[in-house]
Amino acid sequence: MTAPSPSQVLAEVFGYTSFRGDQQQIVEHVTAGGDAVVLMPTGGGKSICYQVPALCREGTGIVLSPLVALMHDQVAALQLVGVRAAALNSTMSGEDRQAIERAYVAGELDMLYLAPERLSAPGTVELLRRGRIALFAIDEAHCVSQWGHDFRPDYLRLGALAEEWPDVPRIALTATATPATHREITERLHLGRARHFVSSFDRPNIRYRIEAKGQVRHQLTSFVKDQHAGEAGIVYALSRRKVEQTAGWLRDAGVDAVAYHAGLPASERLDAQTRFLREDGVVVVATIAFGMGIDKPDVRFVAHIDLPKSVEGYYQETGRGGRDGEPAEAWMAYGLADVVQQRQLIEGGDGDEQAKRNQLAHLGHMLELSETVECRRQYLLRYFGQDLAEPCGNCDVCLNPPKLWDATVPAQKLLSTVLRTYNERRGRTFAAGQHIDVLRGVTSERVAQLALDELSTWGIGADLSVAQWRGVVRHLLATGVLESQGEWGVLAPTELAKPVLRGEQQVFMREEVVSRAAGRSSSAKKNAIADLSIEQQEVFERLRLWRLEEAREQGVPPYVVFGDATLRALSTHLPQSDEALLEISGIGQAKLERYGAAVLALLAE
Ligand code: ADP
Ligand code: ZN
Repeated sequence: MTAPSPSQVLAEVFGYTSFRGDQQQIVEHVTAGGDAVVLMPTGGGKSICYQVPALCREGTGIVLSPLVALMHDQVAALQLVGVRAAALNSTMSGEDRQAIERAYVAGELDMLYLAPERLSAPGTVELLRRGRIALFAIDEAHCVSQWGHDFRPDYLRLGALAEEWPDVPRIALTATATPATHREITERLHLGRARHFVSSFDRPNIRYRIEAKGQVRHQLTSFVKDQHAGEAGIVYALSRRKVEQTAGWLRDAGVDAVAYHAGLPASERLDAQTRFLREDGVVVVATIAFGMGIDKPDVRFVAHIDLPKSVEGYYQETGRGGRDGEPAEAWMAYGLADVVQQRQLIEGGDGDEQAKRNQLAHLGHMLELSETVECRRQYLLRYFGQDLAEPCGNCDVCLNPPKLWDATVPAQKLLSTVLRTYNERRGRTFAAGQHIDVLRGVTSERVAQLALDELSTWGIGADLSVAQWRGVVRHLLATGVLESQGEWGVLAPTELAKPVLRGEQQVFMREEVVSRAAGRSSSAKKNAIADLSIEQQEVFERLRLWRLEEAREQGVPPYVVFGDATLRALSTHLPQSDEALLEISGIGQAKLERYGAAVLALLAE
């Protein structure tokens, strides 16, 4: 039997017409026996890079993946396209394990998934020696990095594979882009001779939008209901309480929302996760604990209602949207309170000074991204060391260029007020709210008590609204002209305040765009299939319901049956024969046999 070529495997097994990005080069390199280090963003299509070579080479492809929950779905998806795949993990019965081991030794497996801790378990290496190995794929390879956030000691053992199996190609893959992590992967996995494939980290199908926080409940529900009705999405919030409260808001608004955080009983968490994966259009409201290893390709939006701690975190979380390449939206609302709260969390945290400085630096970049008036994508890619020559055309800044206004005078007024009260002799210091009251000349008991109306800045800012003043405070905090201190968020000037006060440095900021969405009528409903004709949308819906049924029967997530891109192609091309079905991306030989008749019947109606 001659080995099939990579493009044959891609078409016949996976049903894809062409490789994407670097896939072809990687697949050819590994199939020919070369080692590879692959940096590709989430959704870039990493799996194909080792699955195709594993099928082209003789023997079994061994895949090491830390995400046991994920393995099950990956194996199910592979079996569905006719690949002989299995997984060995610690939760299975001895009998099941032995059956898989026998199949491996007999050369009856194309692919075997292993959790990295299996390598340390007695007998695993001996077992591997008794079969024939096509390649080693090391997924989520950033787990070898000690500076990364999910370091796994077991991963360090993977370097030893090179000595034991010098002739078996190894491919390490990750979506973590920073040069430091890249270096560590190469060194610790002994991949000195590997070829490196660094993809663009751009995710062109994700639309980035960041707006000022007004009434966040209103902003969020209108974002979800008016723009993503019936679609699956993730909403990230910082605290458990806020997660539950937000899920409640969404449910009250008629959205199918579930809460997920580490404080919930395991059964409830599993339930939320299973519903999100297996059903259509479920919205998960979660702390960042959710999403690691959730490989759902058809997440149509990711919303942040609290400021993420770093640009890395933001990019990883937003990257969970649109893995299937279809349009997705990353939306965030942030405000003054977020900035103050994040600083307090860092200052009150238990890290050492160096760790706190790092965290503040991370927060600083996140604020820079939020306040920027340049294309968000250009900012993001530059952050990851890559360049985008032109503004992207698919972020809020590009689509709706912010109007800038000269806030130099208001900034000076605010700084003067801060200086007049931030004064140890007077022995009292104030948070943003009190400064804004002083500037706007709003009397209160406290104002009278402290004789604040005697300040020379009293009432000099009555021309701006509270929201505008909060915007000015936020901007000055974000750009480091002001600092917020202590649990009350006391405002204090920094060195950067001087040039502003002296008029040597101007302050330009964006006009607030609080809740643009709120003004939009719900007839402007826009979701991922909005560009299809009404008839095509109807076909899409019927295919979706059929897919849901089919997935339920088999106990797999819907996307394992067919991805959204496949449903979309089916509804626009309306194939009427087996040959025409095979032309559709996502339909290969096995899926044709399995679903072809049902789909043709449905389309014929
Ligand atoms: P990653 O692991 O890099 O996040 P996946 O391997 O899960 O990405 O792939 C993301 C999505 O892209 C999946 O839905 C997959 O089916 C699809 N995909 C991958 N390669 C191709 C291709 N060559 N043509 C069409 N779809 C592809
Ligand atoms: Zn842009």
